Amino acid sequence: MIWDSIRGHGERVEWFRRTLRRGRLSHAYVFAGPDGIGKRLFARTLAQCLFCQRHTNAELLACGECSACKQVLAGSHPDLHEVGRLKGKSELTIEVFLGPIENRLREGLCYDLSRLPMNADRKIAIIDDASAMNTESANAFLKTLEEPQPHALIVLIADNLEALLPTIRSRCQTVRFDPLPSRDVAELLVQLDLERIPDPVEAAALAELSGGSLAVATQLLDPGLRELRDALYQQLAGEFDSVVLAEKLNSGIEAIGGDATKQRGNARWLIRFGLEFFRTAALHLSDQPEGTVIPAAMSFARRFDARSPEDFEFVMSLFERMAETEHHIESNVSVPRCVEILCEDLGRMLRPARR
Ligand SMILES: [Zn+2]
Repeated sequence: MIWDSIRGHGERVEWFRRTLRRGRLSHAYVFAGPDGIGKRLFARTLAQCLFCQRHTNAELLACGECSACKQVLAGSHPDLHEVGRLKGKSELTIEVFLGPIENRLREGLCYDLSRLPMNADRKIAIIDDASAMNTESANAFLKTLEEPQPHALIVLIADNLEALLPTIRSRCQTVRFDPLPSRDVAELLVQLDLERIPDPVEAAALAELSGGSLAVATQLLDPGLRELRDALYQQLAGEFDSVVLAEKLNSGIEAIGGDATKQRGNARWLIRFGLEFFRTAALHLSDQPEGTVIPAAMSFARRFDARSPEDFEFVMSLFERMAETEHHIESNVSVPRCVEILCEDLGRMLRPARR
């Protein structure tokens, strides 16, 4: 079944099916929810169902074999218009809606939607990155939203609903999408990543950290980042050398590359991995070994006395020290400095525990 490939949004499918049976489809929707949870795939599948020549709209199904289905899957259906940020642009600019300056109003999404459908009985627009619309492009698009063509269905994909102009929001019906359950993210990771297949245990750990977003989980698969995480875990569970670790983490973050924001983001992920490590150890000590399995954290926890409240407190203090660094990194303190001080502090804290 066509919808089987979409995880975690079954209720939304049923909701659209009921809406279609009652003939109540709106002309514009905002699909709102975190990045990387399948909103765009949902919109494309919805479009495929509405275009499929073998199923009625009310069925909300697609055969995958008719010419319309094939065109949607190949990205070549003449009545499906997908737009997003242009290459190298951080905003969704006016060109996308009104065409390039030399061809204003004769190209772009607003022009496409003003024309009659070619093959189907409607035109469907999917606007990705809608949260990145600037005021100029939003105002340009507003006219199309205010005077909708009867044949047009518009879906805006937004990871930040607050960033959309109220005038745009108020003219669309909002459909909220929830983060995916960790189990689904883990299964998708194993299915998706053909070159860097994580084992199911690791996939579960990454999924847990991803906040229900496949996009985030996929970022966490970066080989450089995983190598640094493993180095961190190895040090925490073995002979801790703060100088070696700080050097390894800082040069590793730089080696993964990207701009300052990306590097700060990767540093934050490393701290989150550390938090997961101590959280797992603490749960293990308090005899609630639920959640993710981190073998290094389990062996770390075995060094302590599960019946001792002091030992539990000690592991929690390590967790808190990590959390403090996360806070520092988020408030723009120099990343290499944060990492150095963290490693020094952890070294000092861990020394007596290794007696
Ligand atoms: Zn079909």
